[in-house]
Amino acid sequence: MGIGEDQTISFGNGEAEWGLKRYSGAGATQTAMTKANLLEDGLMLTHEVAIKARFQSSIISWYLINGRAYPWRQTTDAYKILIAEILLRLTGAWKAQSVYERIIGKYGTPELLASASVHEITDILRPLGLWNRSNTLINIGKQLSSTFGGSVPRTYSELVGIKGIGQYTANAILCLAYKERVPMVDMSVSRIFQRCLGFTTNKPAYADKELWSLALDWLPETNYREYNLGLLDLGALVCKYIRQSCVDCPVASCCQSRYRVTTHAKE
Ligand code: SF4
Repeated sequence: MGIGEDQTISFGNGEAEWGLKRYSGAGATQTAMTKANLLEDGLMLTHEVAIKARFQSSIISWYLINGRAYPWRQTTDAYKILIAEILLRLTGAWKAQSVYERIIGKYGTPELLASASVHEITDILRPLGLWNRSNTLINIGKQLSSTFGGSVPRTYSELVGIKGIGQYTANAILCLAYKERVPMVDMSVSRIFQRCLGFTTNKPAYADKELWSLALDWLPETNYREYNLGLLDLGALVCKYIRQSCVDCPVASCCQSRYRVTTHAKE
């Protein structure tokens, strides 16, 4: 059966078979779920609502037990979260941690960062490589100091107006620092949606509007911080690019690719 064809997915422990169609490109987000009604706890729920709720609660429950603890996850300080997100680009979190602590220890405010020299920041970033991040960090410090009074702005339009901040970083700040209900979609989250929901794409996550729309559609009304972080950790620890571990996966029961990923999701 190919992508885009109807396929019935057995979800849960076999009590019910829920008709779930693959997400298959343009327009699929609106039509992917069949709308048959399901009687559950005396309430009529649509298939889509029930499956989404199960998917969301599975991710959140898994995260609360298995989520990774990092210093930038123990704070709601927008500046610290911003620094962490810049350092985490194309970098493993374990590698970024000591660099993050040195940057925050020495340049704990945007003003201090703005006054740093490229040489000083590059020296701290040396274990990570990617030297151009020195300029990115200093320029962000300068923009925060000169335009926002040394604070990290609270609106999406202001955040993405800062050179060096894109949609993912802006949403990470809005969700993790300012507790706004917005999705966080990187390559690993895209991979989970492709494998689990059958979403198809040839675009990188940052450029895929349909993917972001799907992610918003599947975002829970509450506990969205834990859900967003849970998806990121699931992509890093379980639904990895290679050697995914379906046997350990909290959403295996609704995954369209479980135990049979033969081709890698588009990264
Ligand atoms: S069941 Fe396997 S392929 Fe599906 S989301 Fe989980 S780890 Fe990924």
